[in-house]
Amino acid sequence: MTQHLIPDRNVVARVEGADPRLKDDWVIVSAHYDHNGAEDEQIYNGADDDGSGTVGLLEIAEAYARAVERGQRPRRSVLFAAWNSEERGLLGAWAFIEQPLFLLERIVGVLNMDMIGRNEEVQVGGGARFRGLEVQTAESNNNAINILGYSRTPDLWALVQQANAGIGLELKPRYDNNLSNLLRRSDHWPFLQRGVPAVWFHTGLHPDYHTVYDRPEKINYDKMEKVARLVYQASWDLAQQDGRPRMAARNVRP
Ligand SMILES: [Zn+2]
Repeated sequence: MTQHLIPDRNVVARVEGADPRLKDDWVIVSAHYDHNGAEDEQIYNGADDDGSGTVGLLEIAEAYARAVERGQRPRRSVLFAAWNSEERGLLGAWAFIEQPLFLLERIVGVLNMDMIGRNEEVQVGGGARFRGLEVQTAESNNNAINILGYSRTPDLWALVQQANAGIGLELKPRYDNNLSNLLRRSDHWPFLQRGVPAVWFHTGLHPDYHTVYDRPEKINYDKMEKVARLVYQASWDLAQQDGRPRMAARNVRP
């Protein structure tokens, strides 16, 4: 077997906070921009995983840029992070943890979007990929999104629920403990491991997950827009509020 060393890059951008006392605090909004490439004629488009989150990230960054143009700047600073090599083992996010741009203690919360464009669908006999997930139809999840990490940081979960009041998505706090270890499977996980409050916005697995059929025409765009609005609102509230979310007691830093 030949091993190749391949240079890799995360892409980040920031909006600097306006409050002299809080601007060294950071809110991170993130998504991963890699997927699984191609094999011969077979192209893995990754429209949902994670084209959807990447598009959401760009829209949210643009909304911040416009707010700043209008003279509305958040109190805390906000980092927009497009991670690379999530599919190779969360490598981009782990690299940031190893060499962060600021002290990890300064991060008040991470809002990670990975797969925000489909309806969760688990079929009977769906196979090992769906281990531990209950059978459910796509229709039943038409307006639903899973929020993972809710039990690790109930404060951040409460903030997300509040942000959803004017948006009206069906929020499903679930999968923090399940057979598939879903909670460990996206870029918020390295942050949770280091005691940084983080949640994962995730519309769930479906039969096209990690196949060549994860294509843009299958995206639920109405819902995806709502998710982007929700993450924008939650990030703004996080940047503005006086206090900061805590981790659940068992996860407090030693
Ligand atoms: Zn993904």
